[in-house]
Amino acid sequence: MTKYHAPKGVQDIYPPDIYLWQNVENVAKEVFSAYGFQELRAPIFEMTDVFTRSIGEDTDIVEKEMYTFTDKARRSITLRPEGTAPVVRCYVENRLYNLPSPQKFYYSGPMFRYERPQKGRFRQFYQIGVEALGTSDPKLDAEILIMLRVFFERLGLKELSYEVNSIGCEKCRPDYKKVLLNFFSGRIEGFCPDCKRRYEHNPLRILDCKVEACIKLRAGSPKMMDFICSDCRAHFESFLELLRLADFQYVINPSMVRGLDYYTRTAFEVTSKRLGAQNAVAAGGRYDRLVEEFGGPPTPAIGFAIGMERIVELLKTGNPQIPAPEIFIATIGAPAEKEGLVIASKLREKGMWVELGYAGQSLKSQMRRADRLSAKYALIIGDDEIRSGKLNWKRLSDGTQGEIPINEVLNFFKASS
Ligand code: ATP
Ligand code: MG
Repeated sequence: MTKYHAPKGVQDIYPPDIYLWQNVENVAKEVFSAYGFQELRAPIFEMTDVFTRSIGEDTDIVEKEMYTFTDKARRSITLRPEGTAPVVRCYVENRLYNLPSPQKFYYSGPMFRYERPQKGRFRQFYQIGVEALGTSDPKLDAEILIMLRVFFERLGLKELSYEVNSIGCEKCRPDYKKVLLNFFSGRIEGFCPDCKRRYEHNPLRILDCKVEACIKLRAGSPKMMDFICSDCRAHFESFLELLRLADFQYVINPSMVRGLDYYTRTAFEVTSKRLGAQNAVAAGGRYDRLVEEFGGPPTPAIGFAIGMERIVELLKTGNPQIPAPEIFIATIGAPAEKEGLVIASKLREKGMWVELGYAGQSLKSQMRRADRLSAKYALIIGDDEIRSGKLNWKRLSDGTQGEIPINEVLNFFKASS
């Protein structure tokens, strides 16, 4: 047992896995940039009401998953459990709505939820997300989904399922709620305590409950899709038509509701069959009223968030590209150690990754480290080499070796790299 350990539900990320993470981040930046999304960095903590009001009091996140604490000035602060509310808070606070619409942003970073840790579920986890604010055009919904598919395909993730649904708007949802309440009214007794409360405050959330008994009790419940108004239906139909135009294979899942209150109309989820119970790798949807709730002008918007840990899990089956040093300089004796540092500095100035041996390491242990790092070349310097002004080089992949004058080292590696 070590003296210190990380808190439950968090992960350290270090080489070689870190290269999988960096690759996902690079691909996201590349793909999202082509669609005009720019990075936005909001703080990792916010005033608590940024989340309670927007996400909804009756949601799992607000009910039991938030890391909330009082700071030294007795303010209630919350570590962000998700990325949309902070982006919208920033958009309204900085009046970004005065710029031409739509505005498109992406973010990436850690989120915090006090959940039961298990495979694919952590208390600090990373999301990459996008938010596009300022139009209700279904073309944007289609573009966002297409962009998400391009992102996954560029990572080599092709066997994913894209589920879509429409969850209506503030006009048609109340009618649906009534129908739903009616359907559930005879079954309340069997519900879990959370759903009993949800029945009073927000019956739609019962559809998202993960408790086995509730899942059984809600079988055959009426579907939002059958109650959406003509505007929502037209919006959904155009969205789907545009997806078909792009040869996009989607699945309509009429029982999908999202875990947060602020969603309207288009909702979607991307799932993988290779992940077990925690199978959603990305999720998102429209939130046409949220900017107004934050005190901004009417601004329809849409976004999604990708779960990094689950994507990295899917990518682990492949061989990660691990970078390696260009040159390892092994030295024997004090004069050689100094010369090694001089040569390394010149090569590093040219941008090459150069590693050195250190005091007290035998030539054998230095070469073992060179191998371990998969260095391309080793340069070997001892007293004889300093005297003759010539160095031995060795290409570690095939054992080829040769000699070069010290003052030719820069040219030699520029030519060979
Ligand atoms: P789930 O149904 O898996 O709990 P959610 O509806 O709570 O997901 P969102 O808030 O929509 O998830 O977040 C989007 C994505 O972020 C999820 O699809 C998932 O990939 C990832 N995610 C959410 N919570 C966690 C967590 N605790 N640990 C790891 N990844 C997570
Ligand atoms: Mg969740």
